[in-house]
Amino acid sequence: MISETRQATETPVLEVFASIQGEGAFVGQPQVFVRLRGCPLRCSWCDTPHSWAVPKDARAEIEKRDDVTEGIERVEEPANSTPFQVLCFVAAAEGGRPKTISVTGGEPLLYPDFIVELARLAGERHIHLETAGAHPESLSRVLDSVDHFSIDLKLPSTMRAPVELSADPVEPSPVTAEDWRDVRRRTMKLVRSRDACFKLVLPAGVALSEVEELFDDVANFASEHVVYLQPATAVAGTAAPSLTEIELCVDAALERGLTLRVLPQVHPVLGVR
Ligand code: SF4
Repeated sequence: MISETRQATETPVLEVFASIQGEGAFVGQPQVFVRLRGCPLRCSWCDTPHSWAVPKDARAEIEKRDDVTEGIERVEEPANSTPFQVLCFVAAAEGGRPKTISVTGGEPLLYPDFIVELARLAGERHIHLETAGAHPESLSRVLDSVDHFSIDLKLPSTMRAPVELSADPVEPSPVTAEDWRDVRRRTMKLVRSRDACFKLVLPAGVALSEVEELFDDVANFASEHVVYLQPATAVAGTAAPSLTEIELCVDAALERGLTLRVLPQVHPVLGVR
């Protein structure tokens, strides 16, 4: 029985490292990041496409910090790891200074059992989850295990067709604008009374009506949460929005009584990952 549980929560890890949170409500906070492998979604502006696939021989890069010399070493481990092993990686990365654990990806909601078990073993440690908000069934399973939910508001026009990692996924990924509307609303209802925030990455050229539809849903289903508007960084073929485009989104949020913050992506500014 023990080995069955172990198998169920063994999960592909891409990297574990300590850094500064660059987005959302906890921007600037030192955290330890557990980045899981695997994402079926295809955001046109994705800055971690190396997290999409789960190769059979995948390895994880683990940061090890010497708490006396502050030296950092990066070592490779087999990617498939149990929650207990991941907490050992976390301890190595933070070098004796416990921090909030941010579970990110990829799409971490592909692995709800792993998240639940990680949080159980982590005890009082704060667990934050960064998710695309596209898998509400999985989200419902981790609601009581996570301290803060940082949820993307995806613009359907910026999403290419998903690529499922298995022929029989636990929960299919949204494809059409209607699918996205459905998962978005279910996600918002689930986190309505939780500690959560929404993030909207805005590239250039998005129709204002599309942003307005997202903001209408926030106003109707989870208006108490702050929306962080992140103008996309101009990299890898993605164009940054103009000031006028940003201001139109700000007006749209204010018209709906939303709390909005405009926050540039901080990682490129600080030069950290
Ligand atoms: S959900 Fe995240 S990892 Fe997946 S494509 Fe979008 S930005 Fe990239």
